Amino acid sequence: MITVTKAYLPAYKEYEKYLKKIWASGWLTNHGPMVNELEEKLKKYLGVKHLIYTNNGTIALQIAIKALNLTGEIITTPFSYVATTNSILWEGCTPVFADINDSDFNINPDKIIPLINKKTSAILATHVYGNPCDVDAIKKIAAGYNLKIIYDGAHAFATTLNNKKVLSFGDVSTCSFHATKLFHTVEGGAVITNDDEVAEKMMLYRQFGHIGDKYFSIGINGKNSEFHAAMGLCLLPMMKKFIGKRKKITALYDKLLRDVNLQRPDSIAGTVYNYCYYPVVFENEEKMLITKSLLQKNEINTRRYFYPSLNNLPQYKGEACPVSESISSRVLALPMYYDLTEEDVSKICDLIKTCR
Ligand SMILES: *Cc1c(COP(=O)(O)O)cnc(C)c1O
Repeated sequence: MITVTKAYLPAYKEYEKYLKKIWASGWLTNHGPMVNELEEKLKKYLGVKHLIYTNNGTIALQIAIKALNLTGEIITTPFSYVATTNSILWEGCTPVFADINDSDFNINPDKIIPLINKKTSAILATHVYGNPCDVDAIKKIAAGYNLKIIYDGAHAFATTLNNKKVLSFGDVSTCSFHATKLFHTVEGGAVITNDDEVAEKMMLYRQFGHIGDKYFSIGINGKNSEFHAAMGLCLLPMMKKFIGKRKKITALYDKLLRDVNLQRPDSIAGTVYNYCYYPVVFENEEKMLITKSLLQKNEINTRRYFYPSLNNLPQYKGEACPVSESISSRVLALPMYYDLTEEDVSKICDLIKTCR
C-alpha cells in the first residue's frame, strides 16, 4: 500500500534520549524545558520575535482570531482545509469567501476589495500547498481599510519569499505541526507574531488566562507536552534533508508526467518552495475520479485536497466562487513523503498515463 502521506519518525534511539530526560525530570507538560527549547529554536529558524507552541494548528487559528479581537466578517479563502473556515465560525465571526487565483490557488487580492464593508475586521488567507499568497497586495488592502491579517501557514513551514520566512508575515501567522505536515510534533501548532502585545495575549489565552495565582483574561488550554516537543527537537535539524528529498520526488513526478495534461500550481516570483505536497489538476472531474479509482485499485491512496470548496460547506453556505469550485472538483494530491521511492513514483505515473 502506498499512502498519500506518511509521518517521518526519527530513529528510536534519538527519541529515547529525550524520553530519558522526561523520566529523569518528571516534567511532562506545562511549558517544560523541551517546549521552551523548541520555541527558541523555531523562533531562530523562522527569524521571528514571538512563537507560541500550541497543541494543534486549529487552536492556533482560534487563539489568533481572539487575540486580534476580530468580530463581524472575516474575508477568507474557499480553497483551504476546513479548519480555516471552522475557526472563524467557532469564534463567532462570519466567513466571507473571496475567490482564488487560477495560477497558485491562493486568495485573489482583486476579489477581496469588493467584499469589504464596515463589518469586515480581517483577512484570513492560507498559503496553499506552501506557496506564498501575494502578501504585498494583501498588506496594502489591509492597511487601506484598517483590517488585520492572519495567515494560515499550516503548509508554509520553511518556505521563503524574497529571503524572508513566509511564516513571519501578517499580524499573526499560524502553523500546524500535525503528523502529516512537513515538520511535525505528532500533534502541534504555533502562533507567530512580531507584535509584543498580541504575543502577550496569545500566551495567556494558551494557558487558561492566568499565570500562577494571577488571573488576567479568559483563556483556553492550548498547551503542548514535552513528548510532543521532543519529537520536534528530533526532527527540526533534519529539515534540509526532508525538503531535499521532496524536491527530488517532485522533479521525478514532473519528468514522468511531462506529457500528461495536468495543471500544477505556480509560485510567485521570489519564492523558495518547501515541496510539501504534489497536487495535480485534471482537465475535468471525471478524469480525476477515473484516475483516483484506478490508483486505489492498485493500492495507491490519493486525496482530494482540498475538496469541497469551503463556500459549499453545509455549516456555512457562502457566495459562489467559480475558480475555487472548479479547481477543487478536479484536484488530486498524489503521494508525497520522505520514504516514497523512485519505483513508487514510476508506478504511480505509469498508472496515471494509462488513464488518458
Ligand atoms: C492541517 C491544517 C490545519 C489544521 O491543523 P491541525 O494541527 O490539524 O489542527 C489548518 N489549516 C490548514 C491549511 C491545514 O492544512
